[in-house]
Amino acid sequence: MTPAGIFWICVAGLFVAFILFLVIRTLLVRVKPLPKEEFTPEDISEKQLGERLSEAVKIPTVTVLDGKGSYEPFLLFHAFLEKTYPNIFKSAEKTLINGYSLILKIDGSDKNLLPACFLSHQDVVPAPKEGWETEPFGGEIIDGFVYGRGSLDMKGHLIALMEGLEKILERKGKPVRSIYLCFGHDEEITGKDGARMIVEHLYAQGVRMEYVVDEGGAIMDGGLLGVNGKIALIGTCEKGYVDYVLTATKDGGHASSPKKRSSVDAIAEAVYDLSHLPMKSYWSKPIKETFRTLAPFMKFPYKLLFVNSDVLGPLLRWLLSKVNPVTNSIVRTTFAFTQLQGSSAPNVIPVTSKAVVNVRINIGQTQKEVKEYIQKVVGKEITVTELNPGFDPTPVSETKGEIYEIILKSVAEVFDGYIPAPYPFIAASDAKHYYKICDKVYRFGPIEMGVDDQNRIHADNERCNIASATRGAQFFARLIENTCY
Ligand SMILES: [Zn+2]
Repeated sequence: MTPAGIFWICVAGLFVAFILFLVIRTLLVRVKPLPKEEFTPEDISEKQLGERLSEAVKIPTVTVLDGKGSYEPFLLFHAFLEKTYPNIFKSAEKTLINGYSLILKIDGSDKNLLPACFLSHQDVVPAPKEGWETEPFGGEIIDGFVYGRGSLDMKGHLIALMEGLEKILERKGKPVRSIYLCFGHDEEITGKDGARMIVEHLYAQGVRMEYVVDEGGAIMDGGLLGVNGKIALIGTCEKGYVDYVLTATKDGGHASSPKKRSSVDAIAEAVYDLSHLPMKSYWSKPIKETFRTLAPFMKFPYKLLFVNSDVLGPLLRWLLSKVNPVTNSIVRTTFAFTQLQGSSAPNVIPVTSKAVVNVRINIGQTQKEVKEYIQKVVGKEITVTELNPGFDPTPVSETKGEIYEIILKSVAEVFDGYIPAPYPFIAASDAKHYYKICDKVYRFGPIEMGVDDQNRIHADNERCNIASATRGAQFFARLIENTCY
């Protein structure tokens, strides 16, 4: 045999050994069942929950932006909650922050235990009537769904929480661990006057929380990730957020005698370059953990790929970048151009042209690194400035330890057969403010929804499935029972 022949036989042998190694590792992975106890889910009336959610949706608590809008509905919403949930309000100390954000504190009997804290936001995004098949604030109940703005984001969650807590207080009385409910009024515009100030207030009082649960994280079909069955994603952290303004300044003038290169050309080139040169994908620690948790439940060949993600990383990340925008956004910092500005007249070449890029920063990177990268790509003729202070990615909450284990147990008990997994939340929530008073901050919305319903959030015909919200209420009741009694 020629030396070349021997070489190729060796290469083929190594390749076969490598594949065998991957397959054996995959076959050795076993599914560990989650601990759970037999229990009777809280008796929560679907009909009543649906009617109450409908009432909540009818109160148009649209976020007040730059003084535009009305705070009146927030006060009506507080009155509605107080009337509807007497057990909670009877047991709770109520504090208003900035007039419209609400803290309800229910004292536990053991002062040595740090409190549990449940978040929700009262505000909703606007809902112009066009495109809606129902009144956006009509709260109509049709075929088991409550329709209306905020029914999913996030009054469904808020009402499920209130229903669950009301019931458990009625059945079991005073908890051992104190419970805080913190409902901000401006989450949709970063929570600067609501959640942020709630946290400042609690921090000033020296309050620390044992754990926090907010929206984000969801129950969904695992098919997208090759998982057989439903997955319950628990957000342990959240990507950073910042908007940058790119500005080009050049000579302007009359459009009848254009110069070679205007500020419009420069800004267009910058937009093109940045759109075509994304930041490198990489595994953040929490996304590695997501896949490590889900891999045993995947079908072939996903299982082989994800079990061996440490050796097949680049290939996998490339695949995730291509599959769809969501899987792309979990492995990298993303850039989305949202606003462009040239001159105000069709025949005027502008002196300055601007583009706004909305940036979501992957866990492990910082605003500083991202800005440096953008500046390098767009070059010196473009200035890059922050439109707002932005947020770096949050710390990552632990996925070991008693509280996380109890959250998993509660999921396993209420959502039998579903697969809980930690993951980095790719959007933004009020929860990011709470790291100042807590290091176990989780995001989990226990209301199951299909892709169709997910797509209605912040869009037309938003609706919440009443049966799913009822199960969500049972989850909150069980989690509170498991951690506070
Ligand atoms: Zn929300």
